[in-house]
Amino acid sequence: MQLTNRSIVVVNKQMTWMEKLYLPAIVMGLAITIKHLFRKKATLKYPEQTRAFAPVYRGMHVLKRDEQGRENCTACGLCAVSCPAEAITMIAAERKKGEENLYREEKYAATYEINMLRCIYCGLCEEACPKDAIYLTDRLVPSEYSRGKFIFGKDILVEPIDKRVDISKRKKAYQIKS
Ligand code: SF4
Ligand code: SF4
Repeated sequence: MQLTNRSIVVVNKQMTWMEKLYLPAIVMGLAITIKHLFRKKATLKYPEQTRAFAPVYRGMHVLKRDEQGRENCTACGLCAVSCPAEAITMIAAERKKGEENLYREEKYAATYEINMLRCIYCGLCEEACPKDAIYLTDRLVPSEYSRGKFIFGKDILVEPIDKRVDISKRKKAYQIKS
């Protein structure tokens, strides 16, 4: 059975003397190349230059502290349960007397890990968190040579007290959307 009636007639046309010289084709190719020299470049000199990310860009996570510097996370596990990639693991612990300045709630995450190779940056952990504790940011996950280094623990994820990670723009963008 014939599937289509489309056909192309192949013509074995001999090249002209000018075409055999290839000069017109070379000149046309050069003209296209030169034209691109004066156009706005589509590429950037990364990492010296970077593009502005969208306010809701989903990059590397941060575990937030409250205004007193205490960790917000109460190890409820909702982020881990909502994670479709099963990338989050944690071990909960009870806050001891004298640790009130370290952890906001009576329970906290003694260990909190995200496997960044599993993570698909869906943001569901952020949405599930009832304690304002986890956010995705516009920071990129640094490249590494070994897979083990992509298991990010609290030493990387919890924001340093003296170097807070600003997520206000992200929060605002979500509020506008909702
Ligand atoms: S962004 Fe998505 S995949 Fe990554 S840890 Fe959070 S819930 Fe899991
Ligand atoms: S980050 Fe939020 S959702 Fe995850 S364990 Fe901590 S408090 Fe619960």
